[in-house]
Amino acid sequence: MRFLITNDDGILAPGLAALHEAASALGPADVVAPEDTQSAIGHAISVLQPMVVRRLHVNNQFHGWSVGGRPADCVKLAMIELLPERPDVVLSGINAGANAGINVLYSGTIAGAREGALFGVPAIAFSLELCDELDFGAAGRVARSVLEAILAARPPAGICLSVNIPRMDRGLPRGVKCCAQAAVNWEEFYEKRVAPEGHAVYWLDGRIPHDRAHPDSDLAALHDGYVTITPLRADLTDQAALDAIASWRWPHKFG
Ligand code: MN
Repeated sequence: MRFLITNDDGILAPGLAALHEAASALGPADVVAPEDTQSAIGHAISVLQPMVVRRLHVNNQFHGWSVGGRPADCVKLAMIELLPERPDVVLSGINAGANAGINVLYSGTIAGAREGALFGVPAIAFSLELCDELDFGAAGRVARSVLEAILAARPPAGICLSVNIPRMDRGLPRGVKCCAQAAVNWEEFYEKRVAPEGHAVYWLDGRIPHDRAHPDSDLAALHDGYVTITPLRADLTDQAALDAIASWRWPHKFG
């Protein structure tokens, strides 16, 4: 079993080291990760500029490729160019912060996994719910248990799983729940200030309204202290809407 590991918090992030420790107990693990933080970058890729790639030795723990690009770039580059052997599984994380609900859309961590799935490889994103003291050691042990369970189930080619680990400062997770994404949007606002030069600057802030999330959703289960597993797909088509709009009156002749 050979792993490729990426993340969106950068190659030096403690979450990546924890995931590397968890995975490398089960097989060789190559690391190809962004040189700096790429949180909330989504499935962006570099097309207008080249990427600097450096071989790096991190924490006396592993050698990896540091990439001046996005998480999806890292996986693409690894698959097409860098790796001597194709991985059996692509891993991304462990992200500092949950990727539940609509955060899935913004997450660079998830995009790293999803890019692996696009290459037809099973891919798993790991994210840890935020709290004051992020315990990546404990989260890594949870990730390893979950990873072993997933591998034992022989995941199909191209599946993309998002694993969220509840904050570890309240004790061990209560169990595992497989659930759908919550659909509630953030309650967002901008902090507006005036810069010394006189122009306005805006800083995004907000909160996820857990209380309005469906009780069977990832947000609710995570909030209740469960590890959540959500299968994701790249096809964002709204099938119900597709049937509905097909019956709308569309122009049938142009010009
Ligand atoms: Mn991140």
